[in-house]
Amino acid sequence: MPNAYEAMNDAELKAAIADLEKQADDLRALDLKLDMARGKPSPQQTALSRPMLDLLTSESDLSDEGVAADNYGCPEGLPSARRLAAELLGVDEKNVIVNGSSSLNLMHDVVCNAYTHGIGGNKPWSQQGKVKFLCPAPGYDRHFTVTARYGIENVPVPMTAEGPDMDVVRRYVEEDPSVKGIWCVPMYANPTGITYSDEVVRAFAHLKPAAPDFRIFWDNAYCVHTFKGEGDHLLNIFDALEEAGASDLVYEFGSTAKVTFPSSGMAYMTASPADMAEVRAAFASMRVSPEKISQLAHVRFLKDAAGVRAHMEKHAAIVAPRFALVEEKLTASLADLGVATWTHPCGGYFVSFDGPEGSAKAIVSLAAELGVKLTPAGATWPYGKDPKDTNIRIAPTFPTLEELGQALDVFVVAVKLVSARLVAE
Ligand code: PLP
Repeated sequence: MPNAYEAMNDAELKAAIADLEKQADDLRALDLKLDMARGKPSPQQTALSRPMLDLLTSESDLSDEGVAADNYGCPEGLPSARRLAAELLGVDEKNVIVNGSSSLNLMHDVVCNAYTHGIGGNKPWSQQGKVKFLCPAPGYDRHFTVTARYGIENVPVPMTAEGPDMDVVRRYVEEDPSVKGIWCVPMYANPTGITYSDEVVRAFAHLKPAAPDFRIFWDNAYCVHTFKGEGDHLLNIFDALEEAGASDLVYEFGSTAKVTFPSSGMAYMTASPADMAEVRAAFASMRVSPEKISQLAHVRFLKDAAGVRAHMEKHAAIVAPRFALVEEKLTASLADLGVATWTHPCGGYFVSFDGPEGSAKAIVSLAAELGVKLTPAGATWPYGKDPKDTNIRIAPTFPTLEELGQALDVFVVAVKLVSARLVAE
């Protein structure tokens, strides 16, 4: 669709800008203080898990299949917690560890161990000169921060509607031995909300890396976060690996952070038996044993994958109207202008928005001036550098519906005004 502002003559464009400036002034006068930046569940959502807090009391039996949750031991996590995580991941519980409250923390420690001690008997990454990580972009900024912190070069890879551009991924991974990993959020990706197609998952499983110590970091953070209809389907990467006759290629991560309580959830990971043996050995020097009391509360509350799905339906009832409002407001205000596109996810926490080239920073800054905080422009790219300055991550879950509606009204005015000014420049 052509850009409506480009189709205007000078006088029309001037009038449109004057009208939008007036709308912006009116919004500024409201002195709003709204936040669409945070990918956090709303208080209504975290309240859904409060009953979990009543399940353990001073009278409770704190044992789990013969393991005492109230003492050291069982470094791979409680048996029932491993079973629950394995069911969610669709893998054998023998290859699962449940540890800590943050999956990002597990990802960090796996990167750190590869950096200092190496993977599979290969030299530590720190002793191999320049090493690189592929970063499908737009993506999750905290992934990029982990690798950047170790001086690993983050290389952006374009995202398509089906997942990362696998021709680009294959070229890097199969031709360049300094490429050691790739960050992936395969389901309801942060921030696009897309789910990798079966073809993309199979292409990952069929990669023949130039580096023996290359691994795919498969962060399945949102695998149970469907809020619309049947939701998406993600092919199990470990089934695809088996089909491809591959192993020692994937570390998969997940957590209940946005199922129960962010920062107090239950984090887990899986990989091949050989990779898990190495991770267990590494973690043994970092941790004595995990938060088993929290794990016990989680399994007594959530029970099994069916219990998680039932709980997530309650989240969906709260989250779905917010995403519907984003779609409604953006469509009503922007669909006919030809200045922006955005994603239409069935799950996850974000909508990814693209304005005209060179607009994102200006939109975020104008929205801030009008009282609406957004994720900083560029955050979805390695080093915060969005080459075309188009992408903005919208996080609609935390504000109330009323606040979200106001924030979106501000956002669309900012998008229109910046887009019109870009044409006038
Ligand atoms: N992975 C992704 C893709 C996320 O979006 C987030 C949080 O927003 C996390 C991981 C963080 O998970 P945790 O709290 O388990 O570290």
